[in-house]
Amino acid sequence: MNFAGYRCSVCGREYEHSEELFLCPKERGCLDIVMDTETIRKTIDPQQLKQQDLEPSHWRYLPLLPVNDPGGQGTPLRRVGWTPVYSLPALRNKRKLRAFWLKDEGTNPTASLKDRASSMVVARAREISVQTVVTASTGNAGAALAGMAAALQLRAVVFAPSSAPPAKLAQMLAFGARVILVEGNYDQATALCLEAAEHLGWYCRNTGYNPFTAEGKKTAAFEIWEAVQRGYVELSGGVPLAIFVSVGDGNIISGLHKGFRDLTELGWLDFQPRIFGVQAEGSAAIARAYQAGVEQIQPVRAATLADSICVDMPADGVRALRAVKETGGAYIAVGDEQILQAIAELGQVGVFAEPAAAAAYAGFVRALDIGEIGPEDPVLVLSTGGGLKDIAAVQRAVPSAPVIEPTVQALKRLLKL
Ligand SMILES: *Cc1c(COP(=O)(O)O)cnc(C)c1O
Ligand SMILES: [Zn+2]
Repeated sequence: MNFAGYRCSVCGREYEHSEELFLCPKERGCLDIVMDTETIRKTIDPQQLKQQDLEPSHWRYLPLLPVNDPGGQGTPLRRVGWTPVYSLPALRNKRKLRAFWLKDEGTNPTASLKDRASSMVVARAREISVQTVVTASTGNAGAALAGMAAALQLRAVVFAPSSAPPAKLAQMLAFGARVILVEGNYDQATALCLEAAEHLGWYCRNTGYNPFTAEGKKTAAFEIWEAVQRGYVELSGGVPLAIFVSVGDGNIISGLHKGFRDLTELGWLDFQPRIFGVQAEGSAAIARAYQAGVEQIQPVRAATLADSICVDMPADGVRALRAVKETGGAYIAVGDEQILQAIAELGQVGVFAEPAAAAAYAGFVRALDIGEIGPEDPVLVLSTGGGLKDIAAVQRAVPSAPVIEPTVQALKRLLKL
């Protein structure tokens, strides 16, 4: 295992890997996990990672991850990641784009990118011999933790707002998790979960708290890198790839940035992507700080139909802001109407996205409209979760189907024939 230690993202203090840490004891800053770059560089040939016969999951990058092999062969845990990258020619033609890709995280075992993080957390849990893992969640993190815990036969407890979409709650319950609905929002569920974990000695996965979640999410960056190496994503002319990702707590975007930083440190990254964060207008704490040019993030009273990115106070805001600033990207805010349009537009080319996932595409469309990006720029949109997660939202995005009597006459009337 090439896990060297932790480094605080705020004060820079370093800690030994033998300690079990969450936030920095000094400033409550999020901790980055530091990898033993020297050893990785000496022992691994990046060409080896590109070989065809590696496992089709994010465990193909095990030497770059801070956990030992978690086992779980023959279970969904081994199918996390290695998600498809589509070029969607019809969408490209319609919008006259030169180089466009969409990476669909809806194909993960529990249908969202959160499986990357939760699989890493259960791997760590197994390593330190804990039996119960717990998280607060708007829905997807909990479903992913419940599914990954079930794969390894660990117990999972999830605190979710009582307004969470029914499909996400159904997933958690089907996976056998203990689900506790909180009369309150996600931020309140998060606070309760932290307190419960401390009282009861449960291992807490909370986003922006457990340092291993970003390590799972960084594998999406490795896969994008590998897609470029293999030529699936073709970059030419030296124009940097622009990656669009939706942002709630800011942990996915931070993890993505960490993945590219790990590759840079190893000397393996030969293209520098720009990372664009997309928030819902009703939940835009980080985008507001970005627009105001300040480091300090102020909480908002979040309200958006994109439940997965509905957060008052982002738990990983500092790193999320940095991911954009350090790569030359930008923050974009989109309205719920634009998110609904994005669901419909992606659906028409065969991609089914939940609201928070479609938000990234909506942000890209907005960036095109305001000239933040041009139609010739290479773009990759990360679609973070599948459409079956939130049917009620999809129903608002598309017209409903007509009901007719089972007769040809009725059909002809309907078709105006
Ligand atoms: C969690 C989630 C996000 C946002 O990730 P953060 O780390 O909270 O910024 C976006 N889309 C989907 C589908 C999610 O589940
Ligand atoms: Zn610190």
